[in-house]
Amino acid sequence: MYKITKSGWLEVITGPMYCGKSEELIRRLRRVKIARQKVKVFKPVLDNRYSKKDVVSHSGNSIEAVPVDHPEEILERIDNTVDVVGIDEAQFFHEDLVEICEDLADRGIRVILAGLDRDFRNEPFGPMPELMARAEYVDKLHAICIQCGEPASRTQRLIDGEPAAADDPVILVGASEVYEARCRSCHAIKG
Ligand code: ADP
Ligand code: ZN
Repeated sequence: MYKITKSGWLEVITGPMYCGKSEELIRRLRRVKIARQKVKVFKPVLDNRYSKKDVVSHSGNSIEAVPVDHPEEILERIDNTVDVVGIDEAQFFHEDLVEICEDLADRGIRVILAGLDRDFRNEPFGPMPELMARAEYVDKLHAICIQCGEPASRTQRLIDGEPAAADDPVILVGASEVYEARCRSCHAIKG
């Protein structure tokens, strides 16, 4: 593979819940630090899954991140010395994230984004489709289907053990419902 040298670029890591997006983001960012490049990591404020200030994977790895409300704040916190920007849970950000990431890449920054490609209804999630279309590199990871053990590409939402309905609200981080990884044939929507 030829290395891009005249500009930055966008990398997207995507797939359903539990497919290893955060783990892969953390792995790439650790290597950036080993290379002594300057990195800034961001996540949306509403992702309070484990920690307000870190990107944390389901297996317990973590890296420090700045929680931000609106993607504009990412620009405000970047100076000319930053080589790499990492963004976790990108699906929760406003659509403005797309143009902001393009700007950063134009300015020479490597931007690594992790986020869900689709919500529990199997619909494309927030700015992710646009980011995937614009990125130089896209990795779609699979989890393991909790029902049958096949590769899982979808996120199942369960409320009191039953599949959620499509018209239930999309974003409910930290609520009492359960999410699990499922394949196409085991994924279900109520109604
Ligand atoms: P994501 O950010 O995509 O939600 P994480 O990186 O936080 O995923 O977590 C991935 C880890 O979750 C895996 O390495 C594995 O240890 C664990 N895990 C739990 N359930 C599953 C599953 N159904 N399929 C795959 N990995 C799972
Ligand atoms: Zn299955």
